[in-house]
Amino acid sequence: MGWAAFKVFQKVDCDVCHAAFVAHEPTDERYSHYTVARSNGGLTHPSQELLAAAKLAEPIIVSNTVTVHQTADVDLRATKQILEALSSCGFDFPTCHNVLYLVFKRYVRLRINQYASTITSNNTAMKKRQYGSKTAC
Ligand SMILES: [Zn+2]
Repeated sequence: MGWAAFKVFQKVDCDVCHAAFVAHEPTDERYSHYTVARSNGGLTHPSQELLAAAKLAEPIIVSNTVTVHQTADVDLRATKQILEALSSCGFDFPTCHNVLYLVFKRYVRLRINQYASTITSNNTAMKKRQYGSKTAC
């Protein structure tokens, strides 16, 4: 998640957005380890609220991985579902630069790719049956 924020804030220069999504110190052991690995030791750490949003998003991402080989835009659909869930749960991220969408689009794509590679290696037979002669990969 820190990696996704890091990539987005390479393009977005806004104090309001930055303050809402990025913390200067690691906020969570599990995620901060991942942040360091992904950003080559950079100082991008997700904020507490962004981490809370990521935890809320997790079951949505997982549920969308079930259909990952059936729809090409599964990451966009999952991102949309996550943003809807977050707004209905009262999260209050700034909207001036659409950073919430940008961060989650990257994050979801990353996570779905991780799941997809797992599914591909574990379940090639099922994939073949679904895809027939298509050269999807
Ligand atoms: Zn902004």
